[in-house]
Amino acid sequence: MRHIPLERDILQALNAVRIIDTHEHLDTEEEFCSSHVDLGRLFVHYANSDLVSAGCPPQDIERLLTDTTLGPRAKWRLIAPYWDYIRDTGYGRCLEIAIRDLYDIDGLCEQNAERLSECMAAARYPGYYREVFDRAGIGVALWNRLERYGPIPRMWTPTYDRSLFVQDILTPFLELRDPQWSEGWGRPILCLDDYLGAIEERFAAHAGQASAIKFGVAYSRPLRFEDRARAEIEPLFNRLLNAGWERNGAMPTMQELRAIQDYLVHFCLQQCARYDLVAKFHTGLQEGNGNTITNSRAALLANLFARYPTVRFDIYHISYPYHDELAALAKNFANVAIDFCWMWIISPAAGRRALSDYLDAVPVNKIHGFGGDFIFIEGTYGHAVMAKENIARVLADKVADGEMTCDRAIQVGTWLLRDNAINWFGLRDKVPAEVLGA
Ligand SMILES: [Zn+2]
Repeated sequence: MRHIPLERDILQALNAVRIIDTHEHLDTEEEFCSSHVDLGRLFVHYANSDLVSAGCPPQDIERLLTDTTLGPRAKWRLIAPYWDYIRDTGYGRCLEIAIRDLYDIDGLCEQNAERLSECMAAARYPGYYREVFDRAGIGVALWNRLERYGPIPRMWTPTYDRSLFVQDILTPFLELRDPQWSEGWGRPILCLDDYLGAIEERFAAHAGQASAIKFGVAYSRPLRFEDRARAEIEPLFNRLLNAGWERNGAMPTMQELRAIQDYLVHFCLQQCARYDLVAKFHTGLQEGNGNTITNSRAALLANLFARYPTVRFDIYHISYPYHDELAALAKNFANVAIDFCWMWIISPAAGRRALSDYLDAVPVNKIHGFGGDFIFIEGTYGHAVMAKENIARVLADKVADGEMTCDRAIQVGTWLLRDNAINWFGLRDKVPAEVLGA
């Protein structure tokens, strides 16, 4: 049963919280302002995957995103037959909330296609990110800069807007099949020590400012990282390096690649211990279609949690649909936190059930309540609204059940949206006080 007045009171209090958004992929504002935009932009990720899942041909999505000869109405007609099937999923609802609040447009449909595209284009100006963050209640976002507009220096973007973002250190160096894997380091990579040294230099230069290091390898392999001996990896790495694997087709086997990745992930976690840097792992659902879900269950990481007790881990996307396992992991390990980033649009109902269970089982300081996880700003806004509404709904249930007072519920909600992230990521030392807020 819903407890509407209680939900409203709690939501009102949460709307005043200056949120720490634990995960965004937004373009820089410069890129955002200079790129052509129409409604297709809303389908660059997430909702497009639901459309494909509903039966929409992937080539129609491709035209929606890239065909500049099509006007907004023609683009809309490509996806219209499938939109009706996905408009009630978390992805669909998020988009309709965003265009309702930001552009005063009631629902995605052919009649609104042109006006929506015009509104989106008119909103491309410097300062719009800050406006939307303020409307969403977001103080600052931990930023996983995508390399779609690359090349950017390996692992780190040297300049970015610190009034909006705290940047993650990235892990492109795990993608050893990238033909350019050894370039961009500012020095030749001639042996394993060169490679480790280059990675180490980035930690030394940037870990003090970074929010975390982000590992996204669950898209391409299982999250079990064996503890490999250097004596195993060094000859393998050097042999493959000498064969010029990126040039002459002498590609390493999957097994060899994974062994090297194992070693590099452990090496990075040792750097995290040295520089007191949080390690974020993508776990659970992968974006897109046709992924291997069993690769990404958080329980596969348990050897790392035990092996590196001084490294704090942030487990993304609550490992959905393995979120029950994550409760057990976060309950067991002092160094494991749960992160709801992306989750409130993956499934609001599963998110609510999970949060209710976590509040019963896991110390509340280890739950991060919101990360937008969007490439486009409209999605960030819609997701923030959904996160607050659903957190308020879970907390209202706890109050109605007599498990906590309303004041306590508001305190817990504030921790979920703000204080926990400040503490876990050590943001007081990394974010200007005026950006972080009181
Ligand atoms: Zn992400």
